[in-house]
Amino acid sequence: MPIRGVLFDVDDTLFDYSASDAAGLLAQLRQDDLLARFPDPAAAVELWHGITESEYPRFVRGELSFTGQRLARARAFLSRVWCTAPADIPDAEALAWFDAYSAHRRAAWAAFPDAAPLLETLAPAFRLGIVSNAAVPPQRRKLEAVGLLSYFGDRLVCSEEHGAGKPDASIFHAGCALLELDPGEVAYVGDRYTVDALGAHDAGLHACWLDRGNLRGRTDIRPGVHVIESLAELPGTFPGHRIPGA
Ligand SMILES: [Mg+2]
Repeated sequence: MPIRGVLFDVDDTLFDYSASDAAGLLAQLRQDDLLARFPDPAAAVELWHGITESEYPRFVRGELSFTGQRLARARAFLSRVWCTAPADIPDAEALAWFDAYSAHRRAAWAAFPDAAPLLETLAPAFRLGIVSNAAVPPQRRKLEAVGLLSYFGDRLVCSEEHGAGKPDASIFHAGCALLELDPGEVAYVGDRYTVDALGAHDAGLHACWLDRGNLRGRTDIRPGVHVIESLAELPGTFPGHRIPGA
């Protein structure tokens, strides 16, 4: 069965979330004159990243709303910076801080340089869509801001609206349904090995792990999961399938 469609993750796959996230956080800490409370900027980013990795999955599992995970992340971070109990930080204060950080982050939004060239190559011959563990409005805003939304139109499935997140097979199947294709006709590309690559593989899609960090040294890559270090490698990834540019 030929590959006729490609579904993409957004953050750290097409869109350089990590860079904008770090830039936004550091800009906010400088503005508040709080950066000196950390040994170095990397320590602040590491703390924020760790909190995000802890709290964001609670949103994906349905334990927190989209706003709720923002509140939880802000409260956890500020409690460390301000040396106060998280419960002592009012919702309004935590959300105001998050909004301010988010504005700095938005100023640093950027797509990876290899994203638009790949989508331009694929668009004439493939149906393209998004499957993301997020909510549709912010993902649309990001893709539009960096000039990529036109490749996807309304073909976005996000966990907030779908009701389940990756690696649940149902969200990959919802993405395939949007493309009006069977899972065996669709490739999925994402930067997280377990959530994206194994999730897509287990859902019956052609799975491609985008390993920008070059972690190929790991020895537990499941057979059938393809690994690339750049989106430019995607056209040559699936043997036996015609993808333009190969
Ligand atoms: Mg991602």
